Amino acid sequence: MRSLVTGGAGFIGSHLIDRLVKRGDEVIVLDNVSSGKEEFLAHHTSQVTHHHVDITDYEAMSLYFEGVDVVFHFAANPDIRLGTQITDTDLKQGTLATYNVVESMRVHNVPTIMFASSSVVYGDNAPMPTPENHGPCMPISLYGASKSAGESLISSWVGTFGLQGYIFRFANIIGDRGTHGVIFDFIHKLKKNPAELEVLGDGRQEKSYMEVGDCVNGILHVMENQHEPLNLFNLGSHDTCSVRRIAEIVVEETGYSNAEITYTGGSRGWAGDIPRAMLAIDKMIASGFNVKFNSEEAVRHTARVLIQEIGLDN
Ligand code: NAD
Repeated sequence: MRSLVTGGAGFIGSHLIDRLVKRGDEVIVLDNVSSGKEEFLAHHTSQVTHHHVDITDYEAMSLYFEGVDVVFHFAANPDIRLGTQITDTDLKQGTLATYNVVESMRVHNVPTIMFASSSVVYGDNAPMPTPENHGPCMPISLYGASKSAGESLISSWVGTFGLQGYIFRFANIIGDRGTHGVIFDFIHKLKKNPAELEVLGDGRQEKSYMEVGDCVNGILHVMENQHEPLNLFNLGSHDTCSVRRIAEIVVEETGYSNAEITYTGGSRGWAGDIPRAMLAIDKMIASGFNVKFNSEEAVRHTARVLIQEIGLDN
Protein backbone atom coordinates (compact mmCIF):
# COMPACT_ATOMS: atom_id res chain seq x y z
CA MET A 1 0.00 0.00 0.00
CA ARG A 2 1.24 3.52 -0.72
CA SER A 3 0.53 5.72 2.33
CA LEU A 4 1.02 9.48 2.55
CA VAL A 5 1.53 10.88 6.07
CA THR A 6 1.27 14.63 6.70
CA GLY A 7 3.14 15.45 9.92
CA GLY A 8 5.06 12.16 9.66
CA ALA A 9 8.19 13.63 11.29
CA GLY A 10 6.14 14.43 14.40
CA PHE A 11 5.63 12.55 17.63
CA ILE A 12 2.57 10.44 16.74
CA GLY A 13 3.20 10.43 12.98
CA SER A 14 6.68 8.93 13.32
CA HIS A 15 5.36 6.11 15.55
CA LEU A 16 2.65 5.44 12.99
CA ILE A 17 5.28 5.25 10.24
CA ASP A 18 7.22 2.63 12.22
CA ARG A 19 4.07 0.46 12.10
CA LEU A 20 3.34 1.21 8.43
CA VAL A 21 6.89 0.22 7.45
CA LYS A 22 6.58 -2.99 9.46
CA ARG A 23 3.44 -3.97 7.55
CA GLY A 24 5.23 -3.29 4.24
CA ASP A 25 3.80 0.08 3.12
CA GLU A 26 5.63 2.54 0.92
CA VAL A 27 5.41 5.82 2.88
CA ILE A 28 5.50 9.40 1.59
CA VAL A 29 5.96 12.01 4.32
CA LEU A 30 4.99 15.67 3.94
CA ASP A 31 6.43 17.57 6.88
CA ASN A 32 8.03 21.02 7.16
CA VAL A 33 9.68 19.99 10.47
CA SER A 34 8.19 23.00 12.27
CA SER A 35 7.59 20.90 15.39
CA GLY A 36 8.72 17.47 14.15
CA LYS A 37 12.27 16.14 13.99
CA GLU A 38 14.22 14.63 11.11
CA GLU A 39 15.83 12.18 13.53
CA PHE A 40 12.45 10.52 14.23
CA LEU A 41 12.59 9.11 10.68
CA ALA A 42 16.36 8.59 10.44
CA HIS A 43 16.18 4.83 11.03
CA HIS A 44 14.11 4.29 7.88
CA THR A 45 15.67 3.83 4.46
CA SER A 46 14.12 3.23 1.05
CA GLN A 47 10.55 2.59 2.22
CA VAL A 48 10.09 6.16 3.53
CA THR A 49 10.52 9.36 1.51
CA HIS A 50 10.38 12.65 3.40
CA HIS A 51 9.50 15.81 1.45
CA HIS A 52 10.04 19.10 3.27
CA VAL A 53 6.78 20.67 2.22
CA ASP A 54 4.46 23.12 3.92
CA ILE A 55 0.96 21.72 3.51
CA THR A 56 -0.55 25.21 3.67
CA ASP A 57 0.93 25.67 0.17
CA TYR A 58 -1.58 23.87 -2.08
CA GLU A 59 0.48 24.04 -5.29
CA ALA A 60 3.54 22.55 -3.58
CA MET A 61 1.83 19.85 -1.54
CA SER A 62 -0.81 18.55 -3.97
CA LEU A 63 1.90 17.16 -6.32
CA TYR A 64 2.55 14.24 -3.99
CA PHE A 65 -0.95 12.72 -3.91
CA GLU A 66 -0.83 10.93 -7.29
CA GLY A 67 -1.01 7.13 -6.89
CA VAL A 68 -1.56 7.28 -3.11
CA ASP A 69 -3.94 4.71 -1.51
CA VAL A 70 -4.46 6.30 1.90
CA VAL A 71 -3.65 9.62 3.57
CA PHE A 72 -2.92 9.90 7.28
CA HIS A 73 -3.45 13.59 8.00
CA PHE A 74 -1.51 14.34 11.19
CA ALA A 75 0.15 17.71 10.52
CA ALA A 76 -1.16 20.54 12.69
CA ASN A 77 -0.03 23.17 15.14
CA PRO A 78 0.40 21.09 18.32
CA ASP A 79 0.34 24.02 20.76
CA ILE A 80 -3.24 24.66 21.93
CA ARG A 81 -2.12 27.59 24.09
CA LEU A 82 -0.72 29.49 21.08
CA GLY A 83 -4.28 30.41 20.06
CA THR A 84 -4.54 32.69 23.09
CA GLN A 85 -1.91 34.94 21.45
CA ILE A 86 -2.00 34.32 17.69
CA THR A 87 -5.48 33.84 16.32
CA ASP A 88 -4.89 32.64 12.75
CA THR A 89 -2.40 29.77 13.30
CA ASP A 90 -5.04 27.05 13.78
CA LEU A 91 -7.12 28.46 10.95
CA LYS A 92 -4.15 28.17 8.54
CA GLN A 93 -2.32 25.08 9.87
CA GLY A 94 -5.56 23.28 10.77
CA THR A 95 -8.66 24.25 8.79
CA LEU A 96 -7.09 25.49 5.54
CA ALA A 97 -4.40 22.79 5.53
CA THR A 98 -7.12 20.14 5.91
CA TYR A 99 -8.96 21.69 2.96
CA ASN A 100 -5.73 21.39 0.94
CA VAL A 101 -5.48 17.71 1.89
CA VAL A 102 -9.04 16.69 1.01
CA GLU A 103 -9.01 18.76 -2.19
CA SER A 104 -5.71 17.16 -3.30
CA MET A 105 -7.29 13.78 -2.57
CA ARG A 106 -10.31 14.62 -4.73
CA VAL A 107 -8.16 15.85 -7.61
CA HIS A 108 -5.89 12.78 -7.50
CA ASN A 109 -8.61 10.19 -6.70
CA VAL A 110 -7.15 9.14 -3.34
CA PRO A 111 -9.95 7.11 -1.69
CA THR A 112 -9.31 7.14 2.08
CA ILE A 113 -8.29 9.60 4.81
CA MET A 114 -7.34 8.96 8.46
CA PHE A 115 -7.60 12.20 10.47
CA ALA A 116 -6.01 13.02 13.84
CA SER A 117 -8.77 14.93 15.64
CA SER A 118 -9.03 15.55 19.35
CA SER A 119 -11.19 15.21 22.46
CA VAL A 120 -11.19 19.03 22.65
CA VAL A 121 -13.87 19.18 19.92
CA TYR A 122 -16.41 18.21 22.61
CA GLY A 123 -15.89 21.51 24.44
CA ASP A 124 -16.34 22.33 28.08
CA ASN A 125 -19.54 20.82 29.42
CA ALA A 126 -19.65 17.40 27.81
CA PRO A 127 -20.71 14.42 29.95
CA MET A 128 -17.81 12.29 31.22
CA PRO A 129 -16.93 9.85 29.75
CA THR A 130 -17.93 11.50 26.45
CA PRO A 131 -19.36 9.25 23.73
CA GLU A 132 -18.86 9.90 20.00
CA ASN A 133 -22.55 10.78 19.57
CA HIS A 134 -22.41 13.65 22.10
CA GLY A 135 -23.46 16.92 20.50
CA PRO A 136 -23.58 19.65 19.58
CA CYS A 137 -19.78 19.85 19.70
CA MET A 138 -18.84 23.36 20.85
CA PRO A 139 -15.03 23.64 21.21
CA ILE A 140 -13.69 26.47 23.39
CA SER A 141 -10.15 26.73 21.93
CA LEU A 142 -9.06 27.91 18.48
CA TYR A 143 -7.25 24.59 18.04
CA GLY A 144 -10.50 22.77 18.89
CA ALA A 145 -12.37 24.88 16.34
CA SER A 146 -9.85 23.89 13.64
CA LYS A 147 -10.24 20.17 14.49
CA SER A 148 -14.01 20.49 14.38
CA ALA A 149 -13.76 22.29 11.02
CA GLY A 150 -11.42 19.56 9.73
CA GLU A 151 -13.95 16.90 10.72
CA SER A 152 -16.70 18.82 8.91
CA LEU A 153 -14.61 19.18 5.75
CA ILE A 154 -13.93 15.43 5.74
CA SER A 155 -17.59 14.59 6.38
CA SER A 156 -18.62 16.89 3.51
CA TRP A 157 -16.04 15.36 1.13
CA VAL A 158 -17.42 11.92 2.13
CA GLY A 159 -20.98 13.05 1.38
CA THR A 160 -20.24 14.98 -1.79
CA PHE A 161 -17.27 13.25 -3.46
CA GLY A 162 -17.43 9.68 -2.08
CA LEU A 163 -14.26 9.96 0.03
CA GLN A 164 -13.93 7.35 2.80
CA GLY A 165 -13.10 9.00 6.13
CA TYR A 166 -11.77 7.85 9.50
CA ILE A 167 -11.88 10.50 12.22
CA PHE A 168 -10.06 9.73 15.47
CA ARG A 169 -10.72 11.90 18.51
CA PHE A 170 -7.61 11.35 20.59
CA ALA A 171 -7.26 11.66 24.35
CA ASN A 172 -3.89 13.11 25.47
CA ILE A 173 -1.30 11.02 23.67
CA ILE A 174 2.01 10.53 25.47
CA GLY A 175 5.15 8.43 25.13
CA ASP A 176 8.69 8.41 23.77
CA ARG A 177 9.64 11.12 21.22
CA GLY A 178 7.14 13.44 22.90
CA THR A 179 8.09 17.07 22.22
CA HIS A 180 5.29 18.90 24.02
CA GLY A 181 2.67 18.45 26.72
CA VAL A 182 2.51 18.42 30.48
CA ILE A 183 5.10 15.68 31.24
CA PHE A 184 7.62 17.18 28.79
CA ASP A 185 7.08 20.64 30.36
CA PHE A 186 7.46 19.35 33.93
CA ILE A 187 10.75 17.58 33.14
CA HIS A 188 12.15 20.74 31.55
CA LYS A 189 11.03 22.88 34.50
CA LEU A 190 12.69 20.51 36.98
CA LYS A 191 15.84 20.34 34.88
CA LYS A 192 16.04 24.14 35.04
CA ASN A 193 15.18 24.32 38.74
CA PRO A 194 15.27 21.03 40.70
CA ALA A 195 13.99 22.82 43.83
CA GLU A 196 10.54 23.77 42.49
CA LEU A 197 7.89 22.51 40.10
CA GLU A 198 5.29 25.13 39.20
CA VAL A 199 1.98 23.67 38.02
CA LEU A 200 -0.40 25.80 35.94
CA GLY A 201 -3.85 25.80 37.59
CA ASP A 202 -4.82 24.08 40.84
CA GLY A 203 -3.55 20.63 39.78
CA ARG A 204 -7.05 19.17 39.88
CA GLN A 205 -7.36 19.15 36.10
CA GLU A 206 -8.01 15.54 35.26
CA LYS A 207 -7.69 13.97 31.84
CA SER A 208 -7.35 10.65 30.12
CA TYR A 209 -3.87 9.68 28.83
CA MET A 210 -3.09 7.14 26.11
CA GLU A 211 0.34 5.73 25.32
CA VAL A 212 1.42 6.47 21.75
CA GLY A 213 1.95 2.79 20.82
CA ASP A 214 -1.62 2.07 21.94
CA CYS A 215 -2.79 5.05 19.87
CA VAL A 216 -1.21 3.97 16.57
CA ASN A 217 -2.19 0.32 17.11
CA GLY A 218 -5.77 1.48 17.68
CA ILE A 219 -5.77 3.54 14.48
CA LEU A 220 -4.54 0.63 12.37
CA HIS A 221 -6.93 -1.80 14.06
CA VAL A 222 -9.93 0.41 13.28
CA MET A 223 -8.71 0.94 9.73
CA GLU A 224 -8.51 -2.81 9.14
CA ASN A 225 -11.81 -3.70 10.79
CA GLN A 226 -14.26 -0.86 10.09
CA HIS A 227 -15.41 -0.05 6.60
CA GLU A 228 -18.19 2.56 6.73
CA PRO A 229 -17.98 5.59 4.44
CA LEU A 230 -17.41 7.72 7.60
CA ASN A 231 -15.91 6.11 10.70
CA LEU A 232 -15.76 8.17 13.92
CA PHE A 233 -13.85 6.79 16.92
CA ASN A 234 -12.71 8.10 20.28
CA LEU A 235 -9.26 6.73 21.12
CA GLY A 236 -8.32 6.82 24.79
CA SER A 237 -7.71 4.75 27.90
CA HIS A 238 -10.04 3.49 30.64
CA ASP A 239 -9.42 6.16 33.29
CA THR A 240 -7.93 9.59 34.06
CA CYS A 241 -4.92 11.03 35.86
CA SER A 242 -4.84 14.42 37.62
CA VAL A 243 -2.15 17.02 36.94
CA ARG A 244 -1.29 16.89 40.64
CA ARG A 245 -0.56 13.14 40.33
CA ILE A 246 1.47 13.71 37.16
CA ALA A 247 3.59 16.28 39.00
CA GLU A 248 4.21 13.78 41.83
CA ILE A 249 5.15 11.01 39.38
CA VAL A 250 7.56 13.25 37.45
CA VAL A 251 9.20 14.40 40.70
CA GLU A 252 9.59 10.76 41.78
CA GLU A 253 11.01 9.66 38.45
CA THR A 254 13.50 12.54 38.19
CA GLY A 255 14.74 11.72 41.69
CA TYR A 256 14.44 15.42 42.67
CA SER A 257 12.56 14.38 45.80
CA ASN A 258 13.03 17.75 47.52
CA ALA A 259 11.28 19.67 44.77
CA GLU A 260 8.36 21.71 46.07
CA ILE A 261 5.25 21.43 43.90
CA THR A 262 3.51 24.83 43.68
CA TYR A 263 0.24 25.76 41.96
CA THR A 264 -0.62 28.98 40.12
CA GLY A 265 -4.28 28.43 41.07
CA GLY A 266 -7.57 28.48 39.17
CA SER A 267 -9.36 25.52 37.65
CA ARG A 268 -7.81 25.83 34.16
CA GLY A 269 -4.19 25.74 33.06
CA TRP A 270 -4.91 28.52 30.50
CA ALA A 271 -7.86 30.14 28.69
CA GLY A 272 -9.40 27.49 26.45
CA ASP A 273 -8.06 24.60 28.54
CA ILE A 274 -10.64 21.94 29.38
CA PRO A 275 -10.01 20.99 33.01
CA ARG A 276 -11.72 17.58 32.98
CA ALA A 277 -11.85 15.25 30.01
CA MET A 278 -12.46 11.58 29.57
CA LEU A 279 -13.55 9.87 26.38
CA ALA A 280 -15.99 6.97 26.29
CA ILE A 281 -14.08 4.17 24.59
CA ASP A 282 -16.89 1.59 24.33
CA LYS A 283 -16.91 1.85 20.52
CA MET A 284 -13.14 1.29 20.34
CA ILE A 285 -13.44 -1.73 22.66
CA ALA A 286 -16.41 -3.11 20.68
CA SER A 287 -14.23 -2.95 17.53
CA GLY A 288 -11.96 -5.52 19.22
CA PHE A 289 -9.13 -3.20 20.36
CA ASN A 290 -7.98 -2.57 23.92
CA VAL A 291 -5.14 -0.51 25.39
CA LYS A 292 -2.09 -1.93 27.18
CA PHE A 293 -1.59 1.06 29.51
CA ASN A 294 -4.03 2.85 31.83
CA SER A 295 -3.52 6.62 32.29
CA GLU A 296 -1.19 6.48 35.29
CA GLU A 297 0.91 3.66 33.80
CA ALA A 298 1.23 5.64 30.56
CA VAL A 299 2.29 8.74 32.55
CA ARG A 300 4.96 6.88 34.51
CA HIS A 301 6.27 5.09 31.42
CA THR A 302 6.43 8.42 29.55
CA ALA A 303 8.18 10.19 32.41
CA ARG A 304 10.86 7.48 32.41
CA VAL A 305 11.50 7.48 28.66
CA LEU A 306 11.41 11.27 28.31
CA ILE A 307 13.84 11.74 31.22
CA GLN A 308 16.21 9.45 29.30
CA GLU A 309 15.64 11.33 26.04
CA ILE A 310 15.92 14.82 27.53
CA GLY A 311 18.65 13.96 30.02
CA LEU A 312 19.03 15.50 33.47
CA ASP A 313 22.21 17.28 34.45
CA ASN A 314 22.89 15.19 37.55
P1 NAD B 1 3.72 17.02 16.46
O1 NAD B 1 3.88 18.49 16.56
O2 NAD B 1 4.79 16.17 17.00
O3 NAD B 1 3.41 16.60 14.96
C1 NAD B 1 2.88 17.49 14.01
C2 NAD B 1 3.79 17.41 12.79
O4 NAD B 1 3.22 18.23 11.75
C3 NAD B 1 5.19 17.96 13.06
O5 NAD B 1 6.15 17.03 12.58
C4 NAD B 1 5.25 19.27 12.27
O6 NAD B 1 6.56 19.54 11.82
C5 NAD B 1 4.27 18.99 11.15
N1 NAD B 1 3.64 20.20 10.60
C6 NAD B 1 2.99 21.16 11.28
N2 NAD B 1 2.54 22.11 10.44
C7 NAD B 1 2.90 21.72 9.19
C8 NAD B 1 2.72 22.26 7.90
N3 NAD B 1 2.06 23.43 7.70
N4 NAD B 1 3.22 21.59 6.83
C9 NAD B 1 3.89 20.42 7.00
N5 NAD B 1 4.09 19.86 8.20
C10 NAD B 1 3.60 20.50 9.29
O7 NAD B 1 2.32 16.69 17.18
P2 NAD B 1 1.65 15.29 17.56
O8 NAD B 1 1.42 15.32 19.01
O9 NAD B 1 2.38 14.19 16.94
O10 NAD B 1 0.23 15.44 16.87
C11 NAD B 1 -0.09 14.81 15.65
C12 NAD B 1 -1.54 15.10 15.35
O11 NAD B 1 -2.38 14.57 16.37
C13 NAD B 1 -1.86 16.58 15.26
O12 NAD B 1 -2.82 16.79 14.24
C14 NAD B 1 -2.47 16.87 16.61
O13 NAD B 1 -3.34 17.98 16.56
C15 NAD B 1 -3.23 15.58 16.87
N6 NAD B 1 -3.49 15.35 18.28
C16 NAD B 1 -2.46 15.16 19.14
C17 NAD B 1 -2.73 14.92 20.48
C18 NAD B 1 -1.62 14.69 21.48
O14 NAD B 1 -1.93 14.50 22.66
N7 NAD B 1 -0.35 14.66 21.10
C19 NAD B 1 -4.05 14.88 20.94
C20 NAD B 1 -5.08 15.09 20.02
C21 NAD B 1 -4.79 15.30 18.70
